[in-house]
Amino acid sequence: MGRFTLSIGNKIVALVGVVFFASLLSMVLFYALRQEQTIFHENREHMGEITETVSQGLQTIMLAGYADIAQNYAGRLKKMQGFKDFRILRSNGLEAFQDNKTIANVNARIGQEEFSPREEEKELRVLAADDVRLKQLLETKEKVSFSEWEGNEEFLTFLTPIPLQKACTRCHGKDQEVRGVLKLTASLASVRASIEQTRTTAYRMLGVAMVVGIGLVWLLIRFSVVRRIRRVTQAMGAVAQGHFDEKVPESGRDELGQMAKSFNAMSAEVLRSYAGLRQEQNKLTTIILSAKEAIIATNAAGEVVIVNPAAERILEKSREDILYGGFFNVVDDPDYVKAFLDKEGVDMPETLVFKNRILNFYAASIQDEEGRNIGSAALIRDVTEEKKLEEKLRAMSYTDKLTGLFNRRRMEELLHAEFERASRYSLNLGVLFFDVDHFKKFNDTYGHDIGDKVLEVIGRTAKDHFRNVDMPCRYGGEEFCIILPNTGPKGAFIAAERFRRRMEQTPVAEGGIKVTVSIGIAAFPMVTAPNWEAFLKLADNALYEGKRAGRNRVIMCDAEKFPEMDEVMAQIA
Ligand code: GH3
Ligand code: MG
Ligand code: MG
Repeated sequence: MGRFTLSIGNKIVALVGVVFFASLLSMVLFYALRQEQTIFHENREHMGEITETVSQGLQTIMLAGYADIAQNYAGRLKKMQGFKDFRILRSNGLEAFQDNKTIANVNARIGQEEFSPREEEKELRVLAADDVRLKQLLETKEKVSFSEWEGNEEFLTFLTPIPLQKACTRCHGKDQEVRGVLKLTASLASVRASIEQTRTTAYRMLGVAMVVGIGLVWLLIRFSVVRRIRRVTQAMGAVAQGHFDEKVPESGRDELGQMAKSFNAMSAEVLRSYAGLRQEQNKLTTIILSAKEAIIATNAAGEVVIVNPAAERILEKSREDILYGGFFNVVDDPDYVKAFLDKEGVDMPETLVFKNRILNFYAASIQDEEGRNIGSAALIRDVTEEKKLEEKLRAMSYTDKLTGLFNRRRMEELLHAEFERASRYSLNLGVLFFDVDHFKKFNDTYGHDIGDKVLEVIGRTAKDHFRNVDMPCRYGGEEFCIILPNTGPKGAFIAAERFRRRMEQTPVAEGGIKVTVSIGIAAFPMVTAPNWEAFLKLADNALYEGKRAGRNRVIMCDAEKFPEMDEVMAQIA
């Protein structure tokens, strides 16, 4: 009840109160006005009746011939309670029975001294001769009433005509249709007081009706509306604070009952979704905890909040160290992690070496539906073993099984790369292509297995003979190719000639059996070729030239461009 003024119940009560007050007030005003009018009307009727009675009484007295008693009668009436003034007027507005004019007229008319004149004569004007109300009365012969204020008091005046009757004409003649006028003035103070009292009573009743009415409305709203709404709002507050099992009683078939039902359905649905969410979260937690990959995540403020056991193991750091060190320091290279997040991993090295391990690193910022950053996550995999295996596999796929030299596929890759490099930077490059002489016959004589052993020995010898930077390869069958980087025609020739002589003297099988080889050479810058294939073909051509020339020899492609051949040969010898 702390926020009393804001409650919906009070708003409704205030609204109802205003409407209730307005309608009650208009009703009260209407009835009070009617009451006032009735009081006024009754008062008028009453006074009218009085003047009527007085008029009749006066006529009776006059007809009896007691005109002087009539004056006395009028004087007495004046003293009646509630009356301010009572006079009998002539039709010209002068008060009657004050002078001797009428007496003289009557005596003259009936020819005798019927009425004796007054000793004191006065002329008392009560109304002006041309008074509008007097004129109206004379014309209509009907009574006229009007009210006037004197200071704070209101007075009501009645003017009632005294009509000329047959009996009057004996004394007064027929000149005037209206013999006189009765003027009665009464105070309206008592009437006003009575009206005032009516009003006061009405307003009191209005007050009581308001208090009782609004009180009842307040109680009704409080129990049938406010209390039920409050239950739902309190339950909503509880749900907002995580108490999803909150329920409200579903009483009533009205909108509030419907609201309570909807609320219960909603909170049940929220509870279901929440339970589902919890379940999903549990699954996710299980996955994160049991993952072989290191998983580290931050909240929106960038603080590390998730570190799984794999992270401790792979990074060789305790959970506390990782939490303390912060997200950017997980692999002790803040710049790398920042760059990874900024570039979203594009053009970033996918592996890094950390504490003698090869790690596969991936990090990303996490956004909510509105695109706001709500954290970052890193996934780190230890790929040390994988990389070793990969290396081994690659080596295997590059190696000729029988001789241990590079195979043909690798030879093509290497020669391609060396050719491109030498062409671009104008470097020397030599390639030897050699083939065992009469090897078919050898196989036929000693058998294929012995032939294989011979190829093994040739491979070993080649590996041993050439420099580390040179690349001896088995081209296929008993054909070999040696790539000699940074080696010109002279160097290539010397290396080839020495190898030919070494092979000539090397026993390749039991019993001191030996074989010879023929070698073709192509070397930059002596030859030119558009691509590595053409370059190799030049060496191949030279080899076959050697075969045709009798075998066991070294032939240089474009040998005419190499005049110092004999000199070099002498040097080797
Ligand atoms: P030349 O080269 O002197 O003209 O005579 P060649 O008899 O050596 O002729 P060629 O080079 O055309 O013959 C290749 C022979 O080498 C065919 C096959 O008997 C033998 N050979 C090729 N590959 C292998 C191999 O892997 N093992 C063995 N044992 N022999 C092979
Ligand atoms: Mg061959
Ligand atoms: Mg051969």
